[in-house]
Amino acid sequence: MAKRVYLFGKGITEGNGGQRNLLGGKGAGLAEMAKRGFNVPPGFTITTEVCTAYYANKRKMPAGLNEEVKKAVGAIEKHTGKQFGGHKNPLLVAVRSGARESMPGMMDTILNLGLNDTTVEVLKAKSNNGRFAYDSYRRFIQMYSGVVLQIERANENQHDPFEIIIEEARNKRGVKHDNQLPEEDLKSIIEKFKKLVLEKTGKPFPSDPYKQLEGAIGAVFASWMNERAILYRRKYKIPEEWGTAVNVQSMVFGNMGDSSGTGVAFTRNPATGENEFYGEFLVNAQGEDVVAGIRTPLKISAMATTPNLEHCYKELCDVRKHLEKEFGDVQDFEFTIENGKLYMLQTRNGKRTARAYVKIARDMVNQKLMTPEHAIESADPEALEQLLAPVFHKESYQKAINANLLLTKGLPAGPGAATGTLAFTAEKAERWATHGPVVLARVETSPEDLRGMLAAKGIVTAKGGVSSHAAVVARQMGKVCVVGASEIDINYSTGVLTCGDKSIKEGEFISINGSTGEVLIGKIDTAPSELIQVLIDKTMAPKDSELFTEYDFVMKLADKYRKLGIRTNADQPEQAINAVAFGAEGIGLCRTEHMFFKGDRIDYVREMIIFAAEYAEYKSKLAQRPGDAVLLENEYHIPIMHFKQALEKLLPIQQEDFEGLFNAMGERPVTVRYLDPPLHEFLPQNKDQIDELSRKLDVPFERVSQTVHSLHESNPMLGHRGCRLGIVYPEISEMQSRALFRAALAVAAKNKKSPKPEIMIPLVGFERELELQLELVNRVAKEEFAAAKRTLEYKVGTMIEIPRAAIMAEQIAKHAQFFSFGTNDLTQTTLGMSRDDAGHFLPFYEKEAGIVKSNPFATLDQIGVGKLMEIAVQGGRKTRPDIKLGICGEHGGDPASIEFCNGLGLSYVSCSPFRVPVARIAAAKSAVKAMQSVAKPVEKPTAKKAVKSVKAKKVVKKVRKR
Ligand code: PEP
Ligand code: MG
Repeated sequence: MAKRVYLFGKGITEGNGGQRNLLGGKGAGLAEMAKRGFNVPPGFTITTEVCTAYYANKRKMPAGLNEEVKKAVGAIEKHTGKQFGGHKNPLLVAVRSGARESMPGMMDTILNLGLNDTTVEVLKAKSNNGRFAYDSYRRFIQMYSGVVLQIERANENQHDPFEIIIEEARNKRGVKHDNQLPEEDLKSIIEKFKKLVLEKTGKPFPSDPYKQLEGAIGAVFASWMNERAILYRRKYKIPEEWGTAVNVQSMVFGNMGDSSGTGVAFTRNPATGENEFYGEFLVNAQGEDVVAGIRTPLKISAMATTPNLEHCYKELCDVRKHLEKEFGDVQDFEFTIENGKLYMLQTRNGKRTARAYVKIARDMVNQKLMTPEHAIESADPEALEQLLAPVFHKESYQKAINANLLLTKGLPAGPGAATGTLAFTAEKAERWATHGPVVLARVETSPEDLRGMLAAKGIVTAKGGVSSHAAVVARQMGKVCVVGASEIDINYSTGVLTCGDKSIKEGEFISINGSTGEVLIGKIDTAPSELIQVLIDKTMAPKDSELFTEYDFVMKLADKYRKLGIRTNADQPEQAINAVAFGAEGIGLCRTEHMFFKGDRIDYVREMIIFAAEYAEYKSKLAQRPGDAVLLENEYHIPIMHFKQALEKLLPIQQEDFEGLFNAMGERPVTVRYLDPPLHEFLPQNKDQIDELSRKLDVPFERVSQTVHSLHESNPMLGHRGCRLGIVYPEISEMQSRALFRAALAVAAKNKKSPKPEIMIPLVGFERELELQLELVNRVAKEEFAAAKRTLEYKVGTMIEIPRAAIMAEQIAKHAQFFSFGTNDLTQTTLGMSRDDAGHFLPFYEKEAGIVKSNPFATLDQIGVGKLMEIAVQGGRKTRPDIKLGICGEHGGDPASIEFCNGLGLSYVSCSPFRVPVARIAAAKSAVKAMQSVAKPVEKPTAKKAVKSVKAKKVVKKVRKR
């Protein structure tokens, strides 16, 4: 049987930092710290595999676990010289969750476990501090009752019933803080707590420490499936199968008096990336006080001048340096000082904003504290979009300042500027966000507010420090956030936020700056980020932007590691220019139909479509009755004229568009996809539009209307679209080919460098379809090259976007120099789910029924659609080993899908221009991950894993070759 419980502590550590998957991030960090000589209170970790077994076992602990836990408790007793439930020197423990990826505040924690009416008295005698003992006891009952016994506030407008009891005691005593309550008040609070528990559960509060421990371990495992943890996992794509570990650790006490305290710190500033010691602490308090934001803590630097704690500050500064050196990344750590002695409770790689990420990566790589590989690994590609987030518009901001609209300044906790409607509850934030931007304001946030935080553009709290729940969660989500704006008063019942003599009502506009902490009344315009100013608007010189130089460093590093090329989906020169500025190496998809919507072009397209069918009819009759040419020409003169005339008008327009793209892209490849969409997308939709068109074409209304109706399709997505258009109406493909070659030749004649067109035929399912289109393209190329007296290199390929194409890839590749996966259609046709209609039921499938883990139109269905891609890759390479393979569906900008494409060994991914930086980093990250999984098969490789890693090695080699 696999080992289920791992000890950690000086000299007894059984695990190590490489075992994140098994021990969770916290367990692995504790084991590694203990091994490396940091002062860690001893304890043990119950593995994530137990969590999996717990759920497989219908939420029951696996057999024999209690005995193993008892054995581990025995080892800790021996190590500490204390006894669990003992009457002389009782051992108290903390029980905490700890998944592979940290999920701050999402799961549950219980401190001071092991206390009961007897042990509390021993603790009092031992510590000679009754207030401390009873404060610990009341905290334990409060936490245990919430987490294990599930006694919670009824809704978000109500206060925690336990907090109400404490508040009454504070008011009665006339004090502001809990730590001002004397022992006797705490005793009476405890009695009231116990009464509340009895009332709510019908049972007395459990006093047997082992019973308490069993309940707590179960509750922590159960919290893996609580609503907020599920929501969080969904947002950050953390697989449910991972489960959480449980850490049971002997308690040290930060609430023993003025030479005790607790804190949370980062080795660098996680909001800005500045190399400064960043954190906060509370004297005479326990860890949860800092995170919960109940008391506003002091800055860590203030410890240097705090009586009795000065020496601890020095020690902490050493720890800070030591941690970065040992762990090779910014650490987010928790510590407790018990009677002047420093203990480390946790360390993990610190979550950081995208702004901080680029700075930290650049600085730490340059300082040789971080490996370049880790700089890439530690990226959150999705979060990079934060760097493109707006800031306040200078003039609009100045106007607000001049008008005295600055309310207050809190602590900056999540950079960027946000302006929106003020909402006080998560429910309102979620509801109002569907109509426009919302800023959520709370006295302090708790995990129940997660929904509202997700929906809001910005978050502001009145209480709490930079490590409070609001700050930690907002930073990770990339939300603009201000915390600890202590001058504001948020009145939930009147719906008014007040600050001195100023106020804002819920529903009115508020603006916040998460980089400075400012909170302002009203709406302030926002301006583009520095990156946009440098790269796109060119209103700022690169050297003037610190952010740009750091971003550029990281991007160049990413380019060194990635194997995948990055292209963009662009149909306009401006989009192409933007994408190149972001680092695109080519166009992976130009949807030519998008070029037809500008100005009056749509009229020509409509003219072409409306007469196409009749023109085709004319041609077919002519083929059967060549002797009747004149007769037929007369009969069909209107459709012939309009169809030809429309194509003639469209040709120079298309040519001009293509020239624009070729000019923008220089020698970079430009993949032009021929006309693809269902025709109805172009047709006039109502009577007025038909009327207008008939007047423009000078064709009777009835005739146009009749054609429009005859072109109606029941399932246009599966109808006359894609290459089927170019097959039935080859004149359209011919016009597009001519426009493309003329454009390429014209640009080549003007510039020294030749464009690199790649012609892409859409929606191919049959080999013959591609063959026909290829013949046409090659014929037109020959004609145009002859006329221009020069040639150009070009490629012809196809999209793989219907299952038949994937299955028949071996045959199709005979005619295709490249494949590009159109995963939008491939998903639609493989799943049989219309991409336009799936929105009606997919959220239910995902969130309620658990049928899909994420939206398959956003993140590739790797085992279904991905399987077809694998078949197509194999088939394509079998026929044409050097076939170029790309992806141009929306998935080309999704990090998880990019990782899959990296594994398949595709040549490139193509995504929208603003996703290019995300794709660059995601591609590099997946390459580093693949490299590392080959280099070090982590954690006891099973036979299955070993086979996989050999396969991975092969894939990486193949990718490198290209
Ligand atoms: C696709 O189907 O993935 C694709 C890129 O084409 P479109 O979205 O234009 O159908
Ligand atoms: Mg498509």
